Amino acid sequence: MESETRAGMGISKRAFLRGAGVLVAGEVLARKVPAWRSSSGGPPDRKVIVTIFGGVRRKETFSAAGLQNIPHLAHDLLPQALFYNDVRNEGTTAHFNAISSILTGTWQRVGDWGELSPSSPTLFEYFRKQLGVPARSAWIVASNKALTNLIGAGSSRDYGLPYGANVVFPKQLMVSAVEEAIQQGKSHDFVDREKALTDLEAMLEGNNYEGLGWTVFDAATQLDPEVRETIRKAITELVDANGPMSGDELTFFVSREIMRKFAPPLLVIAFSDVEAAHFGSYSLHLAGIRNTDRLCYELWQEVKSNQAYSGKTTVAILPEFGRDPDGSSTNGFLNHRSFDPSCRSTWMLMLGDAIGRPQVIERPIRHIDLCPTLAGLLGCLAPDAQGAGLPEFRV
Ligand SMILES: [Zn+2]
Repeated sequence: MESETRAGMGISKRAFLRGAGVLVAGEVLARKVPAWRSSSGGPPDRKVIVTIFGGVRRKETFSAAGLQNIPHLAHDLLPQALFYNDVRNEGTTAHFNAISSILTGTWQRVGDWGELSPSSPTLFEYFRKQLGVPARSAWIVASNKALTNLIGAGSSRDYGLPYGANVVFPKQLMVSAVEEAIQQGKSHDFVDREKALTDLEAMLEGNNYEGLGWTVFDAATQLDPEVRETIRKAITELVDANGPMSGDELTFFVSREIMRKFAPPLLVIAFSDVEAAHFGSYSLHLAGIRNTDRLCYELWQEVKSNQAYSGKTTVAILPEFGRDPDGSSTNGFLNHRSFDPSCRSTWMLMLGDAIGRPQVIERPIRHIDLCPTLAGLLGCLAPDAQGAGLPEFRV
C-alpha cells in the first residue's frame, strides 16, 4: 500500500515538496531567528520530537481489527517502544485545547480555535528560558488548521513570546508563496495562470475539514532566487499532474528539512490527515491513519540516520484524543465530542534510548504528564505543569 503511494506520487511532486521544505525553512528563519545566544550550560545533548496527529479511536488503531491500518506502528515500532496503552485526555477534546494541554502539562480551556494563547507556559518556553537556548532550538510544524500562531507560547507574564517556538504552517506559507510566484512569474510558464492558481489552492485546501480559511501571514518577499526558481519550475510540473497531495506529507517534508538544516533539540509536529473524518468519509479517515503511520515510520528512520539526532532523541507519538463511538448522538467517527472512553482514552508510543527497555504500560496516564516528562529529558523543569513525570524514563 505505502509503496504504491510512494511510487504514485511521482518525481515532479517529490521535487516540489523538497523545494517547499527548503523554501519554508529558509523563509521562517529569515523572519524570526535572532542572533545565537550561547547557553551557559552548553547546548543540550538530548533531543525531543513530539508527533501529535488529531483524533483516532482504538478501534481503528491498536485493536485486533485496527492493526491493519497501522502496520509500521504495530510491527516496526511497537517492538522497540515504550507503549502506554491508556492515555487519557481529561480536558477539552478540541484541537487547540488538546495540543495546548499536551504542551503545557495543564488542562487548557482557552477556546477551540486558537483565539487565545495557552494560559500556562509551554514546554518551548520552559526549555528556552531556563536553558537560554535560541529560537532556532524550538519549532512546531503543523498541518492542523485549528491551530494558530498562538500555540507557540503561553500568556504567562514570566515567559511568553520571547521564549516561544517557531510556528510553521507549511500549507499556509505555500499558498502565499504560490500566489507570489504566479503573480511574479513569467507568463509563458503557465498556459492559464488562473487555472494554475485555482488548482493549487484546491490542492492545498484539500483537508479544510473545519471549514476555516487560511489567514495568510506575510510571506517573505525576499526569497532565495534559487529556491524561488526551484519552486516555480516544480509548480509548472505539478499543475499538470493530477492526484491528491496530503497536507501531512508536506508537513513531514518541511519538518525533515528543518531537522536537517537546523537540528532543533525540540520539535513538535502536528499532523491532521486523519481529521478528514469530519467530512464523513470513513475511507478518507482510514487513509489518513495509514498515511500518519507511514510518516511516523519515516520520521523514525530520519532520526536514526541523521547524525544530529541518532542515539540522543526521544520521540513521542500520540493522538490528541479518540473519536466518538459508533451509534453515538454525535455521529460516531466524524466527531470527537463525547465523554465516552472511545473519545477520551487513547495511547502513546515512545521511542529512543531514554525509554529504557521496550514495554507496554497498562497503568493509565494523562496527556498532562508528558510535558514534565519531556522537560526532564531536556534538562529543565515545568513548574506550572499539573501532570507528573513518567517514572519509566531515565532522566
Ligand atoms: Zn477534529
